[in-house]
Amino acid sequence: MSTFKDLGLNKNIIKALTELGYENPTEIQLKAIPQVLNSTQDLKAFAQTGTGKTAAFSLPILEQIDAENGDVQAIILSPTRELAIQIAKNIEEFSKFSDGIRCLAVYGGSSIEDQIRKLKRGVQIIVGTPGRTVDLINRKALKLSTVRWLILDEADEMLNMGFKDELDKILAVTPKEKQTLLFSATFPQEVESIAKNYMYKPVEITSGEKNKGSDQVSHQYYVVSERNRYAALKRIADVNPDIYSIIFCRTRRETQEIADKLIADGYNADSLHGDLSQGQRDAVMGKFRDKVIQILVATDVAARGLDVNDLTHVINHKLPDQIESYTHRSGRTGRAGKIGISIAIVTSREKGKLFPIERLIGKKFVSTPVPTGKEICQNQLLKLIDKVHDIKINETEIAEFLPSIYEKLEGLERDELIKRFVSIEFNTFLTYYENAPDLNDSEHMKGRDSRDSGDSKGKSRNDENMSRFFINIGRKDKLNPARLIGLINEQNISKNIEIGQIEILDTFSFFELDKNFEKETVTAFEKNDASFEGRNVNVEITTKQRTGQSRSRNGGSGSSNGSGDRKRSRDKKPAGDFAGFGRKRSDSKSKSAFGSDKNPKRKRRA
Ligand code: AMP
Repeated sequence: MSTFKDLGLNKNIIKALTELGYENPTEIQLKAIPQVLNSTQDLKAFAQTGTGKTAAFSLPILEQIDAENGDVQAIILSPTRELAIQIAKNIEEFSKFSDGIRCLAVYGGSSIEDQIRKLKRGVQIIVGTPGRTVDLINRKALKLSTVRWLILDEADEMLNMGFKDELDKILAVTPKEKQTLLFSATFPQEVESIAKNYMYKPVEITSGEKNKGSDQVSHQYYVVSERNRYAALKRIADVNPDIYSIIFCRTRRETQEIADKLIADGYNADSLHGDLSQGQRDAVMGKFRDKVIQILVATDVAARGLDVNDLTHVINHKLPDQIESYTHRSGRTGRAGKIGISIAIVTSREKGKLFPIERLIGKKFVSTPVPTGKEICQNQLLKLIDKVHDIKINETEIAEFLPSIYEKLEGLERDELIKRFVSIEFNTFLTYYENAPDLNDSEHMKGRDSRDSGDSKGKSRNDENMSRFFINIGRKDKLNPARLIGLINEQNISKNIEIGQIEILDTFSFFELDKNFEKETVTAFEKNDASFEGRNVNVEITTKQRTGQSRSRNGGSGSSNGSGDRKRSRDKKPAGDFAGFGRKRSDSKSKSAFGSDKNPKRKRRA
């Protein structure tokens, strides 16, 4: 295998790479570095995120840059400020031992005057977002007439973000004879036309298959009803005690809402989106990199520049509007040779969106059941046992307490002792997930298609936010779903009350309504003396079991606890160190925000 030296890089660069732990070039580096070093031909590179493309374009430029000359020699355009900052940081690291090389990141949201001042001092490499780069050109603070290399990084994303006009303007002020390097993970039509319009006979190189997702990533999907989406998200987090994940949301609002809920429920989470100031974003990203935060809830744009290699999961809380974004999202995991899981939480209506994504990534999504309470308890218990096994004992500190401890525990057998210690933590999880409902969409579980794997489970709908009602009229009374909805609406229980499943039988029927209106529903039918086709209507709360299963009714008391379905306050995640979740990870470099006793949230958990 070729080394960086074989590729033609000088000893100062190699020294910096060795310090960074780069032992051998990645595939894209093997292909791009000699190409750019030995030819001035334009280059079109298909490279997924996480393949080492930053070094692939930066290193051959650093090798050739004239350090004596302070003119701008290379301009790298990136879709987001985070990515621009990341690239500039990488270049600084690569050129640590190369004297006289100056690189500057220019991006919106930070002082343009400051950037102009730095430009005046002479900078050879600019890394910029398209908007700020155009501003600087307009102010005549940035001159690109001396540019030898133009790099378009994540070109697809720049076009997705609507930077076509800015790219046109920037390209127009660069010299014709420059070398253009275009890097993109996907090549939709818009990127092809940029290549066609702005590049001359480009050489094509590919790392991995074009438009394909990383081989290191497996793709799973969970089908739930809309109202169970968040509960499913929490289960995914709970069943993976060591989760280190980005949860992608489509809007800033959704991002903030999910992050707020997770934080309130005791998870070690935070949000990253465009409404935050640059300082806030930097702080969140720093905490996430240091694993002080285990779950980062982010918009696509905000997470673009995040350089984190060991994410265990990428979770699509909702699928992106543009299917190409899925490749970018899932590409955040499975990086630098590690394996990763990309999860899509979808409703049965959204399932169809998976097919075009499958075509794009060239892989199948595996239908996966939402973890059960039992599975979660099992994983958390094993995690606890691992922790007990691996804990370092401070012999000197603990020694003086041992005699009285042994005295207190005298007479307890080994097995009994183990059970008791483990139960201190485990009981909270057991209680929390006792009778946890099945969150899988029942229709989907019945008809899981041929690509599905695993056992079908959970036949009943059992939606945790719905209550099930018995009504004493049925088909023989000429009742149908539409007429039943009409009848419910006539009772004016509450504005926009959500109606769930309806089951019409011969002489009686069932319907589901928002569980927050259980009492109001029964009372409304009583108060209104509701009737249907001349019959008095009687509505009672019932269990959630479906036809064919034994049914018990609650005598119309209206008591929610009499519904037969579990009633619980299940919003908070269970407390306890045993979760290992939201607590300081054993490999964490810094203190856990959540695990710290100073953090009130720890005390707030259920
Ligand atoms: P990139 O695709 O440029 O975002 O790089 C993805 C990650 O791989 C970054 O964390 C790089 O630091 C790392 N990386 C890039 N090239 C190498 C290499 N040759 N050896 C080890 N790590 C690398």
